[in-house]
Amino acid sequence: MKTFRNLQLRDYNSFGVEALAARVVVLESAEDAEHLEPGTFEAGRDLVLGGGSNVLLSRDIRGTLYLNRIPGMTVKEFDGETALVEVAAGENWHGFVSWTLMQGLYGLENLSLIPGLAGAAPMQNIGAYGVEVSDVIETVTALDWSTGHVEQFPARDCAFSYRDSRFKSADAGRFLVLSCTMRLQSRSNPDTSYAGLVEELDSMGVDTPDSRHVSEAVIRLRRRKLPDPSSIGNAGSFFKNPEVDTETAELLLSRHESIPVYRLDNQAAKLSAAWMIEQCGWKGFREGDAGVSEQHALVLVNHGNANGKELLALSERIAESVHERFGIRLEREPVVY
Ligand code: FAD
Ligand code: NAP
Repeated sequence: MKTFRNLQLRDYNSFGVEALAARVVVLESAEDAEHLEPGTFEAGRDLVLGGGSNVLLSRDIRGTLYLNRIPGMTVKEFDGETALVEVAAGENWHGFVSWTLMQGLYGLENLSLIPGLAGAAPMQNIGAYGVEVSDVIETVTALDWSTGHVEQFPARDCAFSYRDSRFKSADAGRFLVLSCTMRLQSRSNPDTSYAGLVEELDSMGVDTPDSRHVSEAVIRLRRRKLPDPSSIGNAGSFFKNPEVDTETAELLLSRHESIPVYRLDNQAAKLSAAWMIEQCGWKGFREGDAGVSEQHALVLVNHGNANGKELLALSERIAESVHERFGIRLEREPVVY
């Protein structure tokens, strides 16, 4: 375990905003986590960070910042058809996905190139291209900050839903995620149902795609469509796509005939937050260094020296205008500290 004082966090969050951490603890092994004093973590004062790609730092951290860097990737069981793999919280997510593909284990290919570390994957149940990590998670192992006990949660107890889990919502700030286990397949049977994936595979000249082709297609799509945080600060989608009942969806369709509506079942539908934001004129908007990506209306960007408060204020103006025009309340996706 390493500890130090007064760290500038500009390079520790993908928005690239400035914030100071008064004290920093770097966890480098599971033993480090065992030595943490129970009851010392206070949510709102202290913070855990992985890769910092889903947070907006709106102030300095006066307490302690915990950087989870615990490494480890192992195949725990293999029954010929499926394998149970374990990944420690400090592993780079995309590095882990690439490693599973190299092992000949499949199921994570659609989640290629999502920034951040593995410990944050269950926090918001990361998802992309029609797959969510909860589709494969068997357990999440986490330390309860108040008692110091390590608990293992089966997926059914994690309250996974669209970009959410108990760790992000009901139990926010209560646990330090240490590792996850996931059930992967030895036979490649990738999900290519998401719009755009088949077209990308076609353009690669692949007509019978395996999981590695799908991973490559996802990487190509993401590199082309999403602003790269190393060039322009951002945290990916700033708002979730709102889920509404079908009555609300029908009403909106009658008023705005081109609004994209994805039917989830007979009772619920998902709306495109990006479309509504664009309709309100925000795409490419810039005030000072805080703005909305020209590439993608769902992505707030830091053109250089925006601070967290400016980005937060802009996000509130966007949400307000969407509410005024469509009657829909957008929910933030990144965690605001
Ligand atoms: P951080 O930003 O460091 O942390 C996020 C939250 O989790 C914070 O509240 C933090 O306190 C908490 N946390 C982190 N690690 C731990 C831990 N070990 N224990 C307890 N709490 C912890 N997300 C998607 O779901 N799908 C996408 O396709 C996607 N694409 C993205 C594209 C871009 C360009 C960017 C910048 C972001 C994207 N994201 C996406 C968001 C983000 O990458 C993911 O949510 C990712 O899982 C965050 O990982 P992180 O390590 O950076 O988490
Ligand atoms: P896209 O493919 O242009 O699609 C736009 C939106 O439409 C997405 O938000 C997606 O919802 C929704 N959508 C598309 N097809 C759908 C279907 N068949 N059923 C239901 N919803 C559908 O999206 P994109 O922005 O380029 O992103 C591609 C994928 O990467 C998406 O899955 C997106 O969620 C993910 N991504 C996430 C983040 C993040 O920070 N969370 C950032 C970048 C990309 P979903 O978002 O529910 O898929």
